[in-house]
Amino acid sequence: MNAAFPLTPGSAAQAFLARAHGLFIGGRWVAPLAGKRFDVFDPGTGQKIATAAAGESADIDAAVAAARAAFTGPWAKFTAAERGKVLWKIADLVEQHAQELTELEILDNGQPLAVAQYVVRHVVPDFFRYYAGWPTKIEGATIPTAPQGRRPGEVLSFTLREPIGVVGAITPWNAPLPMLMVKLAPALATGCTLVLKPAELTPLTALRMAELCAEAGAPEGVVNVVTGFGETAGAALSAHPGVDKIAFTGSTEVGRLIVKAAVGNLKKVSLELGGKSPVIVFADAVLEQVIPGAARACFFLQGQNCMAGTRLYVHEKIHDQVVNGVAAIARTMQLGHGLDPASQFGPLISAEQRERVRGYVEAGKREGGELVCGGGAPSRAGYFFEPTVFARMRADMTPVKSEIFGPVLCVQSFGDADLDRVAAEANSTIYGLSGSVWTRDIGLAMQMVRKIDSGQVSVNIHAALDPAMPFGGNKQSGWGREFGKEGLEPYLKTKGVSVAW
Ligand code: NAP
Ligand code: MG
Repeated sequence: MNAAFPLTPGSAAQAFLARAHGLFIGGRWVAPLAGKRFDVFDPGTGQKIATAAAGESADIDAAVAAARAAFTGPWAKFTAAERGKVLWKIADLVEQHAQELTELEILDNGQPLAVAQYVVRHVVPDFFRYYAGWPTKIEGATIPTAPQGRRPGEVLSFTLREPIGVVGAITPWNAPLPMLMVKLAPALATGCTLVLKPAELTPLTALRMAELCAEAGAPEGVVNVVTGFGETAGAALSAHPGVDKIAFTGSTEVGRLIVKAAVGNLKKVSLELGGKSPVIVFADAVLEQVIPGAARACFFLQGQNCMAGTRLYVHEKIHDQVVNGVAAIARTMQLGHGLDPASQFGPLISAEQRERVRGYVEAGKREGGELVCGGGAPSRAGYFFEPTVFARMRADMTPVKSEIFGPVLCVQSFGDADLDRVAAEANSTIYGLSGSVWTRDIGLAMQMVRKIDSGQVSVNIHAALDPAMPFGGNKQSGWGREFGKEGLEPYLKTKGVSVAW
């Protein structure tokens, strides 16, 4: 534990950390069958804070069996309204345990207190409550049919929307609770059961959430959590013949492995993958909005954010003002441990991630980018890296092309070129997740919205997430959508029924 930020002895988070964490399978804590464990670190100090169970293939077998038994057994007997109550109760319990979940999320992931508080007190409960309203509104249709020469009135055809079954959910470390919530809520709303494999770097809040789901009334086996490594637990889950669907969030590279692993039983796959989102600023944009907006777009979660606006395209007329303004914010952001209320900018997730980011910054310098600010790691404990701004970048430079997943902003400028050229530049990436356009000209904004090839485009705001708004990637940023009504679809299957008499 970091001496500078001791949790109050006897606090709920402290008590949770001290537990001998197992796997949550069939409503019980169980030890991993092979007995292996791994260490969990606080990225704000680099110190070990807990150990977690390293589940492997045999543990995944047990969890899938528990999920199948619950799917065909007690969970199938829940009415839609009863499933809605479970979801609502999860939101209540998250609020009741907000302090504990906030502290655990910070210690595990490193994010600043204000971010974690907002996530735990608003983002997560709002999301579960949004989906709590859906179970009672999942409906099929009646369809006018005339099979085999039947006449109207001789056949009644309708569709049933049924839960897809046992879901394997594999999530990343950058926002552990929200990543879990976007799988859990639609799965429970539709009547599916889950086996969750959280990122090995951030297993803690997933374990606590498993207990809260049980407390909220989800029968044993509905929510199972197997902590462990991607190459073992994750691979076993994605290849498992007893799993009907994989919901994956993570890198595009691992997304491809998931697709290959799913081939055996042709399980359904939804993918939320990487991004390299553009922020496009026209000359008439409101600078007082653009400057903090562009800084936030890139530096939120230390840039470890799939939607991060890491490519900033600014009209040449206001280029210097925007670059100087964003750099001024970057230079004055207070780096610090997430539990320190003064901290505005936390650590990266690991020493390895910090070295990756440093490698991209060195490449940017070598390739002729102008380093405006940041670019190094402060000398302090924890995996900190400074918010970094590069100006005069070109499309062919390594930091512009790669998803860095760190706080590195690459600025390019454009003149009064035609919009198609600006859009082509913004679209010149394998990704297509998010993006934003900044201007007072609504006509210009709408033209750009049409031209940008990504699952989300926002105007005068970046990454405008809401539980009701579909979110997901075009191109190599993913398959399918999460959030909103569309977010239910990957968890449902349609049965066409025709009754003749
Ligand atoms: P990652 O390396 O792809 O890992 C994601 C998850 O997959 C982890 O649980 C990981 O386990 C597991 N995994 C690794 N190898 C696996 C395999 N062979 N089979 C099955 N599972 C495997 O991604 P990350 O580094 O945690 O997260 C960063 C990436 O996530 C970025 O590319 C980011 O853009 C993307 N992301 C996308 C969204 C979105 O909504 N589109 C949101 C957030 C993040 P381990 O923990 O053991 O590695
Ligand atoms: Mg951790």
